Amino acid sequence: MKSHKEKVLQVDGETGETLTADVLLKRTIRLAKWFREQEVTVGNTVAVNSENCLQYYTVPLAGYFEGLAFTGFNPDYTPWELNHLMGLSKPKIIFCSHRTVDKVLLTLNEYPYVKTVVLFGEEQRSYHPNVITFNQIMGKTDKEELDETYKTVPVDAKETIATILYSSGTTGLPKGVMCTHRNMTAFTEVFFTILNDIEVNKGPPHASLVVIPMFHAFGLLLMYRNLIVAQPSIILKKFRPRKFLQALVKYRITKLSGPPPLVLFLVKHPMVKEYDLSHIREFRCSAASLSAEIQKELQDKFKAEHVSQLYGLTETTGAVLQAGFAEPKIGSSGKVVPGMMAKVIDEQGRSLGKHQEGELCFKGPLVMKGYASNPEATKDAIDKDGWFHTGDIGYYDEEGYFFIVGRMKELIKYKGFQVAPAELEALLVTHRCVDDVAVIGLSHKASGEVPLAFIVRKPGTSVTENEIERFVADHVSPSKRLRGGVIFVERIPRNSGGKILRKILKENAEGL
Ligand code: AMP
Repeated sequence: MKSHKEKVLQVDGETGETLTADVLLKRTIRLAKWFREQEVTVGNTVAVNSENCLQYYTVPLAGYFEGLAFTGFNPDYTPWELNHLMGLSKPKIIFCSHRTVDKVLLTLNEYPYVKTVVLFGEEQRSYHPNVITFNQIMGKTDKEELDETYKTVPVDAKETIATILYSSGTTGLPKGVMCTHRNMTAFTEVFFTILNDIEVNKGPPHASLVVIPMFHAFGLLLMYRNLIVAQPSIILKKFRPRKFLQALVKYRITKLSGPPPLVLFLVKHPMVKEYDLSHIREFRCSAASLSAEIQKELQDKFKAEHVSQLYGLTETTGAVLQAGFAEPKIGSSGKVVPGMMAKVIDEQGRSLGKHQEGELCFKGPLVMKGYASNPEATKDAIDKDGWFHTGDIGYYDEEGYFFIVGRMKELIKYKGFQVAPAELEALLVTHRCVDDVAVIGLSHKASGEVPLAFIVRKPGTSVTENEIERFVADHVSPSKRLRGGVIFVERIPRNSGGKILRKILKENAEGL
């Protein structure tokens, strides 16, 4: 029988390369010690700007060991987007893939706090003095004995930041969401409490497919939960339909987590019929709303034992509503997870009863510490009694099941990716022909929402819809493109305080 050290914990879903528990631990300790050698210590940040890969998760793990904050960037980010986020988290070390390294090097002089760039993979960018490879740091680590003398750095769990991920919250530009080690242990406690009910007693854990990006809380925590139950993570770089389906079959995946577009793909795409996916027993969907109709279709098509939705925000560490520990109800995001409190409030802040729609608020150990270097936004998000205001609209029923029905905040979600209207507006006003602008999300069946811009042209200019779309595409990652189009208007409706009246714009656009 294999010892637990030899247990495979991570697999590259494309190459088949594996990482055993023993090697993962050795690598993590080696990296943790290397951080110390670089004098990267408690309170500092380390970043990854890469697609999912076998080396990725070693970075947050070694960061947790050393009390460093981990931050992840979308590898699709343009230098313009990266610049803003780097400024929020100021990483000392940035790990890159072959795809992202040149982009980072190009603007490295704008990040004076970055000491070293580490490249995942073999090749060395020897022409640049700041770049070393991950393999150089590892040396012969995999073959050496485990360093039993290594001790993790003791931290104040309530204060020490474990992750800085990004969210625009209810308004404005993307902000750095700081979650602490206490948030992580709370996540662990919730997970094990729920797990006791649903999984632990059902035999050995099966492989879990990780196609959700690890720079997002959903992907990062999926890796984490797989690790704490020793469930192998089959890692895919990105979603490619054929490779995804092949991996599902090859690794006989029984449980799947993903955003609504993934579910939509499984339900609607003709290619899916070519594969026998009858081994899938469980689907969990999160990151945006899944219509009751699609949830039902999925359930009927796959005859899975468990199809449910989860609801959470980057600001709440992980899911705060889920049906993992209760019978899922079609259309519902589940019940409040153990240890957390929820309420639904009206515009005056009064708590509402069952079946009454209002803003969802949460309180408890999963609520973030706050936004990095932004006490104002933190104060707006977490009130003096500790309630976090989500900006989402929903209600609960007589059995305590929650239903998300809409959003009062500005945020647009394209295939589960956050798109902050304020970010696109800040970009668009820099266009020489744009006098004023407002960006809203237009409902879209396959993608959830798509960004649409209302533009007031500067007098005497004649910029076209196409030119505006191209301008945006040149500056931002693909998920933020103006797929909803551009509408030229005489003026942007604003209230007396200058706030854009987005509701009016949305109604206008959806009525067209
Ligand atoms: P993020 O911080 O990127 O995870 O985005 C959080 C936002 O995604 C929430 O505030 C919701 O607007 C949306 N969201 C997450 N899960 C769900 C769900 N199950 N149903 C509807 N919206 C969701």
